[in-house]
Amino acid sequence: VGGDVLVLAEHVDGRVDDSTYELIGKARELAAALDGRVEVAIFGASGPAPSMGGADVVLSVQHASLANYTAEAYERTLLSVVRQREPRLVLLANSTVGLDLGAALSVGWVAPLAAYVVGIALEGAAVVATSQIMGGKVLAEVVLEGDRAVCTVVGGSFPADDGRADGSPPVEEVAPPDLSDLRTAFVALAKSEAGDVDITAADLLVSVGRGIGSEDNIELVQELADALGAPLSASRPVTDSGWLPKSRQVGKSGLKVKPKAYLAFGISGAPEHLEGMRGAELIVACNSDPEAPIFEVAHYGTTKDLFDLVPALTEKLSG
Ligand SMILES: Cc1cc2nc3c(=O)[nH]c(=O)nc-3n(C[C@H](O)[C@H](O)[C@H](O)COP(=O)(O)OP(=O)(O)OC[C@H]3O[C@@H](n4cnc5c(N)ncnc54)[C@H](O)[C@@H]3O)c2cc1C
Repeated sequence: VGGDVLVLAEHVDGRVDDSTYELIGKARELAAALDGRVEVAIFGASGPAPSMGGADVVLSVQHASLANYTAEAYERTLLSVVRQREPRLVLLANSTVGLDLGAALSVGWVAPLAAYVVGIALEGAAVVATSQIMGGKVLAEVVLEGDRAVCTVVGGSFPADDGRADGSPPVEEVAPPDLSDLRTAFVALAKSEAGDVDITAADLLVSVGRGIGSEDNIELVQELADALGAPLSASRPVTDSGWLPKSRQVGKSGLKVKPKAYLAFGISGAPEHLEGMRGAELIVACNSDPEAPIFEVAHYGTTKDLFDLVPALTEKLSG
């Protein structure tokens, strides 16, 4: 059995997702320990991204039915590629795409699957995955028995920079399996309506949680955000209450953000929230409860009352 680690690249509109680089970085570490290679499979794109230098080989599969994601075509193609290559481990993002494909691959390839993975280690020859269960409230260590395994990895678990490298690894064209009898076809990509700010594109986010108390108080943090030139994002209770639009929600059922800095005011740091922002380079938290779990991920924190701190910061910035 070889020690290769195969990563499936995810891309939309020709842009490779950050999660792919996170996986490539981790795959490099694991493949080195397993004496194997990092193989990155990319379906339907015209070629590998210029920053895929971290891969030892790019496996490119081209077919009209792979240009856009459909579960049926991608499942069949991934299984075909994996059967040809027989890697030790397949890494997918724990995204809607990865969750679809991981389960199907596990069944088709007859390999154990760990989903919601936030850590992967090797113990001897065994792959040991750390998985979030109960919505992230409990972490389980799972030993994946046998000589093949599949993991779907939660975004932000590993640094993307480790996997992003210039250079052009050799590209192998791999023939697609028979896709002539597909029962599903891609029709159109429905994007949510533009108009609101894109919090995923911001370098700096001011984020507000239930600690703000009421809709009337949102203005207070909005003023700070304006003074910093940053958009306002929020935890779910704030968007559920309609105090800010849903497009501002960070977390499991909201958006995944990776700003250079994330300032959290009155956010407790529930696992579902952390899932969306733990990849931020710098996290600063203001929460009056010193036991709040947000402080476990924050680089800097204060237990000051946000109603004292926020206006003082705004004044300082505007003054
Ligand atoms: C399936 C599922 C999906 C979910 N998806 C998401 C998601 O996408 N995003 C998300 O955010 N949540 C999500 N949640 C909800 C999540 O579990 C938490 O309930 C939510 O994140 C809590 O939001 P919060 O931190 O704003 O509120 P709370 O947990 O109520 O925390 C408010 C915090 O404010 C602090 N505070 C109060 N007053 C002040 C003050 N004056 N100054 C400073 N601090 C103060 C308190 O100490 C407290 O820690 C999801 C839950 C489930 C089950």
